Amino acid sequence: MSDNDFKNIKLPHFPESYWRDSVTCPKFPNMTEDIQVDVIIVGGGMTGIVSAYLLANEGVKVAILEAGNVLSGTTGHTTAKITAQHHLIYDEFIENFGKSNARLYYEANEAALHFIKENINRHQIDCDYTEQDAYIYATTVEYARKLEKEVIAYQKLGIDGEMIDSIPFDMKIEKGVVMKKQGQFHPVKYLTHLLGDIVEKGGLVFENTTAVNIEGKEQPTVLTRDGARATGKFVLSCSHFPFYEGIGLYFAKMYANRSYVIAAKTKQSFPGGMYISAENPIRSIRTAEMNGENLVLIGGESHKTGQGKKMIEHYKALADFGQEALGIDNILYRWSAQDLTTLDKIPYIGEISANRSNILIATGFRKWGMTNSIVAAMLFRDKILRTKNPYQSI
Ligand SMILES: Cc1cc2nc3c(=O)[nH]c(=O)nc-3n(C[C@H](O)[C@H](O)[C@H](O)COP(=O)(O)OP(=O)(O)OC[C@H]3O[C@@H](n4cnc5c(N)ncnc54)[C@H](O)[C@@H]3O)c2cc1C
Repeated sequence: MSDNDFKNIKLPHFPESYWRDSVTCPKFPNMTEDIQVDVIIVGGGMTGIVSAYLLANEGVKVAILEAGNVLSGTTGHTTAKITAQHHLIYDEFIENFGKSNARLYYEANEAALHFIKENINRHQIDCDYTEQDAYIYATTVEYARKLEKEVIAYQKLGIDGEMIDSIPFDMKIEKGVVMKKQGQFHPVKYLTHLLGDIVEKGGLVFENTTAVNIEGKEQPTVLTRDGARATGKFVLSCSHFPFYEGIGLYFAKMYANRSYVIAAKTKQSFPGGMYISAENPIRSIRTAEMNGENLVLIGGESHKTGQGKKMIEHYKALADFGQEALGIDNILYRWSAQDLTTLDKIPYIGEISANRSNILIATGFRKWGMTNSIVAAMLFRDKILRTKNPYQSI
């Protein structure tokens, strides 16, 4: 029996994300000559692409500089639940930041969800979007109590949700919390469409172009590893971990967490909904449509980067859970990725430091970047166009 065989189920030999394998991503040249644009965007993941898209649609000349291939970072390896239910946070945010700030965080992420939904409808973007309710479930009394507090926080903040006593799997739970009318999609299909639109509007996209530094103040210039330079009025650092530190000391204020995902067929049909466990080890569940059939995506086994077991053990733990709770019988994909968490759990979005108002960063999405990246992109657009943004303060 090989390392990849497990209780009659085989794990795929090589990690590969379903999102990236099911779409032919567009290819772009590397930057060989100096360029001048309005806004230079470093990073071709969801944050960089949506920022470029919003700005290009306002007539701003943008260039995306991507170190590898677009959508090959965390965005290409996500589970792509689009929700403002970012695990158990609202009770904690009320406690730490007050009710109005907690409400603002919720509203910003709800606005992001609505932006995605409306954009898909308006432009008929084929990206498997479906509306889903989002659930957190607790299997212990201790966490059921935390869910009770979370539901009270929902009520205080006017969030459309409620307590539940069961979920439709072979699993006994103590309590659950549902947030209604959230969503899920195929992130690479969605963002590939946006890339096409950016290029159509005159935006530039470069791959295999690594940004290494920034020079100059009024007109910042991004220096690349191969020597070509990009100059503009603004630089957006959308490189996941900031490629340029400034004096932000971001390396000391964030930590990276790795998580694992398997995509499998199941014997039983999936009831719908997106689920996440309240307790560790985290179990996150959703479906994805593959050639008219449902795949179940099971994510979790999160640990601080560098502190995990042998990687294959994490996949086996997900497979074990999938067999018991969902009856999975054929694992087609497995992949893993990491995301960054800030000390207070609120992402860093804004000026890199007080004296560099034309270098903006977005990072620390705590594995909830599908909506937080949109919040960041909207803040960037509004800052550059000098428009008031309702979520600026948070
Ligand atoms: C397993 C997992 C599951 C997740 N599930 C969900 C979910 O269900 N819902 C949700 O909301 N969020 C989820 N997330 C989080 C979400 O996927 C991320 O927050 C989001 O994709 C981050 O997007 P990004 O554009 O900021 O980063 P990335 O997608 O990582 O993009 C950054 C890009 O910058 C490039 N880059 C880096 N350095 C440089 C440089 N010096 N020069 C040029 N380019 C550079 C990288 O190559 C990369 O392509 C999940 C995360 C993980 C790990």
